[in-house]
Amino acid sequence: QRLKQGLAKTRNRLGGQLSGLFGVGRKIDAELFEELETILITADVGVDATQALLDTLQKKVRREGLTEAADLQAALKEALVDLLTPLQAPLDVTPHKPFILMLAGVNGAGKTTTIGKLAKLYQAQGLSVLLAAGDTFRAAAREQLQVWGERNNVTVISQEKGDSAAVIFDAIQAAQARGIDVVLADTAGRLPTQLHLMEEIRKVKRVIEKAAPGAPHEVLLVLDANTGQNAVTQVKAFDDALGVTGLVLTKLDGTAKGGAIAAIAQARLSPARPIPVRYIGVGETVDDLRPFDAREFVEAVFS
Ligand code: GDP
Repeated sequence: QRLKQGLAKTRNRLGGQLSGLFGVGRKIDAELFEELETILITADVGVDATQALLDTLQKKVRREGLTEAADLQAALKEALVDLLTPLQAPLDVTPHKPFILMLAGVNGAGKTTTIGKLAKLYQAQGLSVLLAAGDTFRAAAREQLQVWGERNNVTVISQEKGDSAAVIFDAIQAAQARGIDVVLADTAGRLPTQLHLMEEIRKVKRVIEKAAPGAPHEVLLVLDANTGQNAVTQVKAFDDALGVTGLVLTKLDGTAKGGAIAAIAQARLSPARPIPVRYIGVGETVDDLRPFDAREFVEAVFS
């Protein structure tokens, strides 16, 4: 229900237009496919994912000799579920101790908010959590995180001066010494126009590798769903620099661009692979950060 509420804008845009298209009495023809293509593209599904979905549907129409547009609605839903299922892989933070998550993302994507939500989520699972205040981009961010940590009983490691790498190195050592279960390492955000400034964040990753062999166990990229299919550009840039292992798609509740998740599923990465969407953010509270489930997501958009 919460998810359905959170995805209301995407549902109104995508689901609304599609149910118009698949109305009773309408026949399947070339024009229908053209309209469907336009709807998917304008819902930020992206050119590649749109093409993949249309191909799947056209094959099904031919194979099964479908003639009624209404029959396509269920088929589209299934095609979307199939497209998104490779992105579904919930994150298990118990295999390592400490399990070290490195978080990256552009400014304003929702990184700090997500770190707070994750800390509470893992605490609720009975795990101890330590935050590394590695976002040295904004001076205020550090203090904000400190205050938040005190209020929520989460240890926050930060430094007055010192760069991300130094803060995170300290934090990992502290976590090892104290037997902490999960380290959430924040990194300095960059502006969407500064995606080329990746050397610094690569250095952070090298320092994490040095502090704890085998770490980071998860490189989590936080994406603002409002960026729509442009999120794909961010995925590629951060992946080239870091090797991203998981995504968080935030602010789905504030946007009609939820279709971007399909564009992300179809992103051409090197090496070619799906990068799982570990969590989606559909609101401001802790409960609004949820593991991604492909079928649940598609049902919420179409219901
Ligand atoms: P950062 O610069 O990446 O650390 O971004 P912040 O965590 O400060 O988030 C920027 C804004 O987005 C804040 O006002 C957050 O409350 C808001 N925000 C983050 N995640 C969500 C979400 O899932 N839904 C909504 N509605 N707002 C969010």
